[in-house]
Amino acid sequence: MYYLGLDIGGTYIKIGIISSEGEILQLCKFSTGEKPLEVVFEEIDDILKAYKILGIGVAVAGIVDRDGKVIEAANIKSLNDFELKKELEQRYKIQVAVENDATMATLAEAFAGEGKGCNSFILLTLGTGIGGGFWFNGKVERLPMEVGHMTINYLGKLCSCGNTGCLEAYASARALKDNLIEKLEKGENSIASTLYEGNFYKIKPEDIYKIAMDGDPLCRSIMKEGGKALGAGLSNLINLFSPEKIILTGGLSKAVNIYIETAIAEAQKRAMKGLGEKVSIVTSSLVDKGGVLGAVMALNNQLSNQNSCNT
Ligand SMILES: [Zn+2]
Repeated sequence: MYYLGLDIGGTYIKIGIISSEGEILQLCKFSTGEKPLEVVFEEIDDILKAYKILGIGVAVAGIVDRDGKVIEAANIKSLNDFELKKELEQRYKIQVAVENDATMATLAEAFAGEGKGCNSFILLTLGTGIGGGFWFNGKVERLPMEVGHMTINYLGKLCSCGNTGCLEAYASARALKDNLIEKLEKGENSIASTLYEGNFYKIKPEDIYKIAMDGDPLCRSIMKEGGKALGAGLSNLINLFSPEKIILTGGLSKAVNIYIETAIAEAQKRAMKGLGEKVSIVTSSLVDKGGVLGAVMALNNQLSNQNSCNT
């Protein structure tokens, strides 16, 4: 018997087949594109032909209500106001759990990652956008934790949510890419302008990091600026919650040199004396797996709650 874990993000969709012992048998990654659900349905159709699947757990980069409806997904507009759980249950006639991606990743970290043994930690998903999860006293707090939309500069840049000066507008993968494109359009020098046969609009965040690591001054400064902004956001979280740990996950958390290192230094510089020293800021070792693993954990919780209610 197997479970299917889905992680729908702004840039990638990850689909994992997970055994009842929690082992990942297969993990695939696809571009989210304009029609993410078509990709999802096609993949699930194929998996269901090959495996006996007990249920589907879904992590979504957006606000999800208790009925598994996506209320708002700023970076996956086609899922806005969409009854995702209902749609999947009707289509496949199996149990489905749908939750925010950071909440799912928080569950995975608590039981299988950096959060094991912690009483309190905050998790940040650093991807196209920035999400957050809060583990406190042995459970995930059901708080919005829209960390990416905390204001770090109230007169600042426009964010995808419509507000200005959000953390996400400065420190997310999309922000780094937009920042680079803006500078290349102004004619600033960088190896990045030669990639994709000069069509620098196709640049991916991982390219920026790679070029920065190769020593390109413009990409280095962009990664550093993004890291400083992230550090400002982290210091706000430390001052408000004083968690034992902050766990950074998502694609951008792999950019440890420059971006993450700058963020940690900035956070500790800005946090209140006595609070900054107490927190340990670490990167996740689950990263791509966290969303799908957590989604299946949430699904299992849902299944066992139903069973205990039925007996
Ligand atoms: Zn925002």
